[in-house]
Amino acid sequence: MEKLHNFINGAYLEPKSGEYIDNYEPATGQIYSWIPDSDSDDVELAVEAAEKAFPIWSAMSVEERSKILVKLSEGIDKRMDEFVAAESKDNGKPITLARHVDIPRAVSNFHFFATAILHFASESHYMEGVGVNYTTRKPIGIVGCISPWNLPLYLFSWKIAPALAAGNCVIAKPSEITPYTAYLLGKVAQEAGLPNGVLNILHGTGPKVGDAIVKHPKIKAISFTGGTKTGEYIARTAGPMFKKLSLELGGKNPNIIFSDCDFEDMLSTTIRSSFANQGQICLCGSRIFVEKSIYPRFKEAFVEKISKSKVSFPEDPKANLGAVVSEPHMEKILSYIELAKQEGGTILTGGKRVHLDAPHDKGYYIEPTIIEGLSFDCRTNQEEIFGPVVTITPFETEEEALMMANSTQYGLAGTIWTSDLKRAHRVADQLQSGIVWINSWLVRDLRTPFGGLKASGVGREGGWEALRFFTEAKNIFIKY
Ligand code: NDP
Repeated sequence: MEKLHNFINGAYLEPKSGEYIDNYEPATGQIYSWIPDSDSDDVELAVEAAEKAFPIWSAMSVEERSKILVKLSEGIDKRMDEFVAAESKDNGKPITLARHVDIPRAVSNFHFFATAILHFASESHYMEGVGVNYTTRKPIGIVGCISPWNLPLYLFSWKIAPALAAGNCVIAKPSEITPYTAYLLGKVAQEAGLPNGVLNILHGTGPKVGDAIVKHPKIKAISFTGGTKTGEYIARTAGPMFKKLSLELGGKNPNIIFSDCDFEDMLSTTIRSSFANQGQICLCGSRIFVEKSIYPRFKEAFVEKISKSKVSFPEDPKANLGAVVSEPHMEKILSYIELAKQEGGTILTGGKRVHLDAPHDKGYYIEPTIIEGLSFDCRTNQEEIFGPVVTITPFETEEEALMMANSTQYGLAGTIWTSDLKRAHRVADQLQSGIVWINSWLVRDLRTPFGGLKASGVGREGGWEALRFFTEAKNIFIKY
């Protein structure tokens, strides 16, 4: 069985402890590789390497840094098939999704920030007759990037790319559940000519190696994407150390459908926004609010289409949904479906585990599930499930839709379907979320701010926001 290694100082290394943990393939439920069970000793080694590399990397001209990062982006592109297969095997997602979304987005993330840095400028503020202020923006030093399992390389690269482009050295940890594409990234970094120690990739568990990254005094900033509970712990730990923090956390996103929408466009997009990646995208719209006059039509069409979706193993080109990421996660999703029943919900379609034929008979498959008849404030409608489960709820007025949409502790993303321009703007303005899509979903422009309000996080990623996060501003005033 294959053993993965940490990538430290440009070399693949065993964990100091010599301990490994099992890596499961969600499609079969079988262990297929071992990953380092790294700890604070490995973090120390990575910090030493990053400390040596920082003066070299940060002093390099932006043009040189940009060239290396463009090569890194091209390196992933060249190994597209290898990355696609690895992502799909590690995560359980349909191979078509990894090919069309995950890996191309990782390529774009590196390419985008490799070129964005060439145009990154700082401000100057002129004071009439008094003098001038100018602001410099320098890399922070060593930064930590911690990412989740749902879009493994996509979210890993979304943090690492701006951090490196801005001139920082990085200690990064992918989720222990989906380590493989992060492991491959080290090879691409070597081939691209990234100086040793600039990017260090450590594998292992959150509470062990993740925590050691968060607590290390020489790691000056933490960019984290994951659950709200973990984010809260990281804020509590790193806050008193005055680390810069960017926290992209959970969501429970509303999808608000008005009767005047383009029904067919709404329906096909709502199918995606509900169940893409088995509903394991932080931006999925898991609470669907539908104007009462079209509720019966929507319910019939939505249930009919979803009940025909194919749940299958990731390599099946006809799979609409693959496996969810792990056995504990599958159990969590199924327990929420039970909770929904206890809370008075009716399962309109789905609701059960799917057993495929061997060799996938032990894989973690769940039917796409639509539930109705729940109150907006019950646990099923308030807590993040993060799986192929949505609720549908009718509403009568715009005010009622907004009240229900804004009722959770989260505020990541929202979707609005209407052809009334004034209403679209009005509702978008009042939605408590960091991202709003009108008559669309998951359209991403990497220049735009990305992140959530309330318990969905602190700070924004994307475009200049990310480059500002990964740099320290200093204002210098000169008197005339
Ligand atoms: P977790 O919070 O469990 O884990 C996220 C990462 O943090 C993993 O690498 C994990 O390691 C690590 N980690 C766990 N505990 C600690 C700790 N004490 N100190 C440092 N690191 C730690 O989230 P999931 O991986 O389960 O991801 C799903 C969550 O991510 C959902 O809530 C989802 O909404 C959110 N998410 C948010 C996005 C956004 O942009 N706002 C985008 C995508 C997902 P390990 O897994 O190895 O334990």
